[in-house]
Amino acid sequence: MIRRRLPLLLSLALALPSAYAAQFTAAELEAARALQARILTLDGHLDTPANFERPDFDIRHDHSGNALSQVDLPRMDAGLLDGGFFTIYTGQSDRSPASLIADRDAGLRRLLAIHTTVAAHHDRLAIARTPAEVAAIKAAGKRVVLISMENASPLQHDPSLLSFYHQAGLRLLSITHTGNNGFGDAGTAEPEWNGLSPAGRALVEQATALGIMIDQSHASDAVFDDLIEMLPVPLVLSHSSAKALYDHPRNIDDARLRQLAAKGGVIHVNAYGGYLVDTGASAERKAAENALEQRLGGWRGMTMASGVELARGYAAIDAEHPVRKATEDDFFAHLEHILKVVGPEHVAIGMDWDGGGGVEGHPDVSQLPRITAWLLRQGYSEQQIAGIWGGNVLRVMAQVQDYAKAQAGK
Ligand SMILES: [Zn+2]
Repeated sequence: MIRRRLPLLLSLALALPSAYAAQFTAAELEAARALQARILTLDGHLDTPANFERPDFDIRHDHSGNALSQVDLPRMDAGLLDGGFFTIYTGQSDRSPASLIADRDAGLRRLLAIHTTVAAHHDRLAIARTPAEVAAIKAAGKRVVLISMENASPLQHDPSLLSFYHQAGLRLLSITHTGNNGFGDAGTAEPEWNGLSPAGRALVEQATALGIMIDQSHASDAVFDDLIEMLPVPLVLSHSSAKALYDHPRNIDDARLRQLAAKGGVIHVNAYGGYLVDTGASAERKAAENALEQRLGGWRGMTMASGVELARGYAAIDAEHPVRKATEDDFFAHLEHILKVVGPEHVAIGMDWDGGGGVEGHPDVSQLPRITAWLLRQGYSEQQIAGIWGGNVLRVMAQVQDYAKAQAGK
């Protein structure tokens, strides 16, 4: 009996120190890196532009250990991340007339910050507006900046601004963040419009006419249903995970995943810990996190220097109010489930970097070859992995742009 139990206990003990992350051999990681060097590696949702407005952020500097940063050029180089959708994020306001003007200004400032950053580092970065430009930028050895918007609130005061955003590079537009707005309902709020509002439908039509993809992440299931019904083109989820694994309104159920795939769409699997697992975070912990962030100037007002203090503060909160933290294996479980439901042609990666994403064992973009190693271990082909890392979303982008061109030519 003892002889039979000992190896089990021993193997459990050996597994403990690394229980949170799959182990890859040096050869597996080397093969993953070699593969990524040949293909395009894009992320569907990068909150990095929030840092572009911080005076002491330098994208050429490695900000490892800073709680405000998971993406910079040194770590993109290390993780072979070619680029992705850099988002114009605006927190949901109270929707008063004054707030809608403030949201408009916040969106335009963030757009300006993206352009200013790319211009200041034009030897390393370039804005892509079409799939062909994405390929050309990669071929030139630069990093690809696609522009997206998270929460359409900056467009509510004057929706006609969308054509200006399009001219400035916007190619992916989400409806809401965590609260409802004048365009539709968020998944994490009480229904107000039961899907898209009339203004939301008009916005989606305007975006489709311009060749801008629609992103359903953060919006409610009813918005998803409206988009499936009204869109003449596929839609995108820029950062969402599976409701079958964790029943959270930010995740999507299998039936809707199948509808997304049937329409030709793509889901970028998210790595935001609180949506991958039930962390069991108490109200006290959330209040402590909030107080810490406010003490350092609020998320928008913080400098990179305060990000170091923020990391220390989070560590202290972890000690005082421990939670079940999502691990890399939890992320792989969501990825595996979604791959099984829709197939590799409809899956992509959108890890919510610089917006709360990243998990234990996979803290920043420098680790991305681990995902490629996992996909190789699962038996996916180079072509399938190239689709997951960028080909699939570029396929949708081409379809949406071709549709707009064809309609304009009628
Ligand atoms: Zn988000």
